Amino acid sequence: MELSNRQEKIVEIVKENGPITGENIADSLNLTRATLRPDLAILTMAGFLDARPRVGYFYTGKTGSELLTEKLKKLKVSDYNSIPIVVEENISVYDAICSMFLDDVGTLFVVNKHAMLAGVLSRKDLLRASMGKQDLTSVPVHIIMTRMPNITICKKGDLLIDAAQKLIDKQIDALPVVQDVNDGYEVIGRITKTNITKALVALGRDEHL
Ligand code: ADP
Repeated sequence: MELSNRQEKIVEIVKENGPITGENIADSLNLTRATLRPDLAILTMAGFLDARPRVGYFYTGKTGSELLTEKLKKLKVSDYNSIPIVVEENISVYDAICSMFLDDVGTLFVVNKHAMLAGVLSRKDLLRASMGKQDLTSVPVHIIMTRMPNITICKKGDLLIDAAQKLIDKQIDALPVVQDVNDGYEVIGRITKTNITKALVALGRDEHL
């Protein structure tokens, strides 16, 4: 985050003189305590300063990148996930291709007749299936999908950075966000490289939640 001139001055004063009261910071800057209040609130919330009752403000010593890491580690899958596009395991490869175009996604999640996660279809899975001579309207997707238990999943309470690590480790583009039900996983969301990119941009622009 960009600090204003005044905020930078405050940080300098606290660095050199902390712990220091708000009153004394205000005096050093020839300002009133009330004028400084919003700046002190911002600096404390952003983690540059810490405040202890009856002691005053002190410098946390955290660098910008440490503060960024702290913020990153607070982001949850549930803050950034998208709506999942789910298809039934008996639909044809042809229909899955249509669904991928119509819903404008790169990964489809496949469910069984109990609406539980059964597999994943990527763009290349569908391309590969299209290269043969089969009639795509008669090949069901469960023949070509990557299937359970080999599906990498995440849950809505997981850290976004852990989901991102899974995408990298498994070299895949998307994870289903699932919740446990009696006999499997219900698909409740989707995390893709796009979601991770959005989170990165929001963090960089200091617009995250
Ligand atoms: P693409 O194949 O279009 O580049 P991916 O890299 O996401 O897309 O997929 C690579 C392979 O990994 C595909 O065979 C796909 O079925 C599989 N796959 C994709 N997502 C997952 C996942 N979450 N868990 C397990 N396998 C997956």
